[in-house]
Amino acid sequence: MRYLPIHIDLRGKRVLVFGGGPAAQAKLRTLVKTEAELIVVSGKPDAEIRRWAEHGRLTLTDHADFTSATLIYAATEDQDENLRLALLAREHGIPVNAADQPTGCDFITPAIVDRSPVAISIGTEGTSPGLARALKSDLESRLRSDLGQTAQTIKTLRDALKNEEPDIAKRQALWASVLGSGLGDFVSLDAEIVTRRYEERRPEGRQETSDRTATGHVHIVGAGPGDPDLLTIGALRVMHSADVVVYDRLVSDEVLSLCRREADFIYVGKVPGGASTRQDKINQIIVEKALAGHSVVRLKSGDPLVFGRAEEEFVSLDAAGVDFTIHPGITAATAAAASLRHSLTVRGENTAATLATGHDENGFAELDWTALARLNARATIYMGLRAARFIQGRLMLHGANPDTPVSIVENASRPDEIILESTIGALPDDLKAGGIKGPAVLMIGYARRSAAKSLKAAS
Ligand code: SAH
Repeated sequence: MRYLPIHIDLRGKRVLVFGGGPAAQAKLRTLVKTEAELIVVSGKPDAEIRRWAEHGRLTLTDHADFTSATLIYAATEDQDENLRLALLAREHGIPVNAADQPTGCDFITPAIVDRSPVAISIGTEGTSPGLARALKSDLESRLRSDLGQTAQTIKTLRDALKNEEPDIAKRQALWASVLGSGLGDFVSLDAEIVTRRYEERRPEGRQETSDRTATGHVHIVGAGPGDPDLLTIGALRVMHSADVVVYDRLVSDEVLSLCRREADFIYVGKVPGGASTRQDKINQIIVEKALAGHSVVRLKSGDPLVFGRAEEEFVSLDAAGVDFTIHPGITAATAAAASLRHSLTVRGENTAATLATGHDENGFAELDWTALARLNARATIYMGLRAARFIQGRLMLHGANPDTPVSIVENASRPDEIILESTIGALPDDLKAGGIKGPAVLMIGYARRSAAKSLKAAS
């Protein structure tokens, strides 16, 4: 190891940065997060640097005083000038980093994953910036954004525990039990969970909870419409660390394969008009698994809060005293609108975009047909295939223009996505001719944006 990674305390220390262009900005973007006294030497600083100066985060000057600096960055846009500045800095005995000039560097700047006060620095000694970027991006997506806050909470609790428990081995055992052993355990924790677990285990903790197995946690996760690119970073993180994954029929295999492989996978699909897992059975499974101390990921297609019966699961979890977190997802309506390349709402055209179901517990759903039949009304109907003829009849009865466009988007965001363009008047016949089986949404009032707009085919 030629370079020693160290974290330098820059609070109140002077750091000189030469340059006012992109190279200086790149260095400053990290430096402004520190508590250093930053002096930027530049006759012509770019707008971003001037903005930092206006906010008091750095001082701009056009002449340098080397003597009191702790570190120097030679980051002008002129390579020869940077080398010259590096030599000057060395004459003053000050460590220097010359941008893009390895011979002018006493220290190099690593890639950083910043969850202050937790900071991870990644260096490859210049061999592979690409590898450093890949490692950084992987860690960025795995670590919770509030990890720093969790670390602060742990520090407060550790200080408190030192007063309560003199035996260091017992303290270590307690922390191992609160935090788990690997990154997989850690990514599912936040400050609140850590505090609760700590309270349950601490020596002076409440007696009735001290012997109890810790309750697990349920993550209600939006799996999106199918394309794994549409998952949130938070969803992916909890999927990576799940003990149990309870998933629906419409969750795609690609998304499912991103869950922790060692997890226990439980399928609880409901087939429209076919074999189904009853909702109360699903509620019971997630409650039981959480009470057994597991981290449960309840994976629901699209957004769990849109026609996902999530509320019934929340009620059961509340009743059992199980804590849960909701991770919203991309719902079929927005994915389908993106495929049509249209906005769900268009200024000056529609003041509402309805999300409706074609089917409810009583059969075909009764909607506000008068509103939906109006000119310029826009609605996305979920679970509407079997109700298509009924929907058409109701809309016509309420005076809808039969030529109103209806786009049917089947398997939105998936490789086998199909867009069928139809109208209210032709809807049931077009659905039949197009062989649409679902999952699909009926998008009333939305026509596809494309050169082939007039082509009416499922192709
Ligand atoms: N929570 C889900 C909806 C579940 S209800 C969401 O937010 O998307 C199931 C209905 O969603 C299906 O009948 C279909 O109308 C719609 N749907 C789900 N995935 C879809 C997809 N990939 N493409 C089109 N429609 C989809």
